[in-house]
Amino acid sequence: KLHNTVMELKGNIRVFCRVRPILPDKRAAHERQNEETMAMIGFPGKESKEIVLSQSSETATGGSREAVMPFSFDRVFQPQASQAEVFEEISQLAQSCTDGYNVCIFGYGQTSSGKTYTMEGGTSDSAAGMIPRAVKQIFEVTEELASKGWTYKMEGQFLEIYNETINDLLGVGELDKKKHEIKHEKNGRTTVTDVVILPLESASQVRNLLMRAQSRRTVHATLMNERSSRSHSVFTLRVSGNNPLTGESCEGCLNLVDLAGSERLATSGAANDKDRLKETQAINKSLSALGDVIAALGEKSAAEKGHVPYRNSKLTYLLQNSLSGNSKTLMVLNLSPLAAHLNESLCSLRFATKVN
Ligand code: ADP
Ligand code: MG
Repeated sequence: KLHNTVMELKGNIRVFCRVRPILPDKRAAHERQNEETMAMIGFPGKESKEIVLSQSSETATGGSREAVMPFSFDRVFQPQASQAEVFEEISQLAQSCTDGYNVCIFGYGQTSSGKTYTMEGGTSDSAAGMIPRAVKQIFEVTEELASKGWTYKMEGQFLEIYNETINDLLGVGELDKKKHEIKHEKNGRTTVTDVVILPLESASQVRNLLMRAQSRRTVHATLMNERSSRSHSVFTLRVSGNNPLTGESCEGCLNLVDLAGSERLATSGAANDKDRLKETQAINKSLSALGDVIAALGEKSAAEKGHVPYRNSKLTYLLQNSLSGNSKTLMVLNLSPLAAHLNESLCSLRFATKVN
């Protein structure tokens, strides 16, 4: 049974969809697939708010039937959309942390759908992702506000959540020796014990920060197999400003979250079965907890919202103060254009439907 799904801006929750391009090196091998794929994900209209998935299936009489499923978003980005175009649509949201808002931007999708490209991006300036762009923009905004008497302090934190355990991507020395605990303070601030908080004095420092995190992930990978796609990474920029001229002050934060791959894993047959099963359960649990929290927050009235189940995962518990109250949330649904990934794309789209 097919139904149209309409996603609209609801409260402070927005959902974008970005379809990545076919990668150049894959083009030859997937040429046929490429053609199929393009027919499967369509971008109707000029508004860039809708995608259409089509799936053909054999009928009993030997013919074929085409099923067409439209999905609407607050914004849709086609494969050729640049990082700059994507950032243009999120920059207002990102910079609202300088006004004291708590902002969360999530990248959701299967492994290889473009989450890390969207969040961190490539090394060239044009390929820079949302993290470096947001930090640069926030520095520019705070410099402008300096003329009105505001002084700002910026700090960066970069964590990984793997199997419901927090690791510090900016840490030094031995890995995973410290147990990091989440503390919600009375002033609304969330702290994590024993993690590095880097003071940021200029936007260019964020490049080093991303590289430092990357080299740490690599160490993890050699120690305990590839797992960056099996973990969530949470970059947090804390911004606090005060204005001695007016006596005002504000504190906000921007969280950019590269979620673990949403694909369903085969959990049988592998040699490292137990570890895989544990990983899969941790990912399923935390992604569905995130879906539940966002769905609850999207309800209009407090009664409909009911109890928001933040405590069901480390991720939602860590971000509790950034998802509730004075906060804004954006989910970027990343999709692969490959025909081979169509089923996972459908699962992602269903998730997005649920959080609306
Ligand atoms: P994920 O983090 O979801 O596993 P990646 O961000 O690593 O996926 O993307 C998979 C591959 O596709 C990478 O090689 C990445 O550079 C490339 N890629 C993803 N999105 C784009 C894009 N919009 N433009 C160009 N290359 C992209
Ligand atoms: Mg990734």
